[in-house]
Amino acid sequence: GAAKDDAGVLGRVRVAVRLRPRNAEESVADADFADCVELQPELKRLKLRKNNWDSDTYEFDEVLTEFASQKRVYEVVAKPVVESVLDGYNGTIMAYGQTGTGKTYTLGRLGEEDTAARGIMVRAMEDILADVSLDSDSVSVSYLQLYMETIQDLLDPANDNIAIMEDPKTGDVSLPGANLVEIRDQRSFVELLQLGEAHRFAANTKLNTESSRSHAILMVHVKRTVKGKNSAFSSENGNSSHMKTLKPPIVRKGKLVVVDLAGSERIDKSGSEGHTLEEAKSINLSLSALGKCINALAENSAHVPVRDSKLTRLLKDSFGGTARTSLVITIGPSPRHRGETASTIMFGQRAM
Ligand code: ADP
Ligand code: MG
Repeated sequence: GAAKDDAGVLGRVRVAVRLRPRNAEESVADADFADCVELQPELKRLKLRKNNWDSDTYEFDEVLTEFASQKRVYEVVAKPVVESVLDGYNGTIMAYGQTGTGKTYTLGRLGEEDTAARGIMVRAMEDILADVSLDSDSVSVSYLQLYMETIQDLLDPANDNIAIMEDPKTGDVSLPGANLVEIRDQRSFVELLQLGEAHRFAANTKLNTESSRSHAILMVHVKRTVKGKNSAFSSENGNSSHMKTLKPPIVRKGKLVVVDLAGSERIDKSGSEGHTLEEAKSINLSLSALGKCINALAENSAHVPVRDSKLTRLLKDSFGGTARTSLVITIGPSPRHRGETASTIMFGQRAM
């Protein structure tokens, strides 16, 4: 993979690991057992216990302990991506991990009663709205669920089979069938997330599945009109006389995609049949396709195999090039889930 210190380089995936605290049940049931991991945040290292004497050590771009605040997690995982979207690039923030380890806590918490609890989606929109000027710029949002290779609109449940379109010239990916809602204030964004969550719950009840079996995808389109005269771009060629010439406005479009991935746990296929087995296959397909793409990015490979799943096709214009990708892998401390934790850690390692 790429050198560890080029975290700012575009195109490379930045990987953070976040450990959630023990929950009440684990605190009691595992009271006599040590956590399966030990974190060394200053060294950006994680130790995965093998037995009482020995452990394997892994390095990440960031190591976030159970004491890391939501604010710190936002700053480390999301802020650089949001800033680059405001500059007109594409950016992706993804959470990968076993169900119950904190993906939705990290990305999706609304924090209405407690602003400190707000997750990445809400904080990202706050930063975006604070930076744009709504006279000349626009911010619009789609919210989707990807389940069994089908894209459903969480803002309009009747819209349950959305096609992915790709501009043959630019390679830009779009979903013309999805609702795109213009956002003018934070309040309406939070309401939209709530509406999406309610629709997601209803859709999954109807399909008789858990929300952890699907990917939730938020897309934020930021379109800015930069006045030619004041544009930072006019001085970029080093010719100061350009600063004085009036230029036509420049339109900059950035897209932020936030993906709350389906739970990465291995589903026991022996006990699964029909629907559940198909579901498991479909999740394995999309997560392994995602893994292959981010490995290809990490290895600077010319070929990123985006065609293998809807998830990766959807993220195509967010991979490589000038796009920024940030992956947070979430893990729990319980020694009982050591196997799942190890496989999550390996997914994160392969992305670097
Ligand atoms: P996932 O989306 O990965 O299935 P959740 O985000 O729903 O997991 O988290 C599972 C449970 O753990 C929730 O009750 C959540 O509030 C709690 N939790 C997750 N991460 C943290 C954290 N960093 N600090 C405190 N509680 C957490
Ligand atoms: Mg979740």
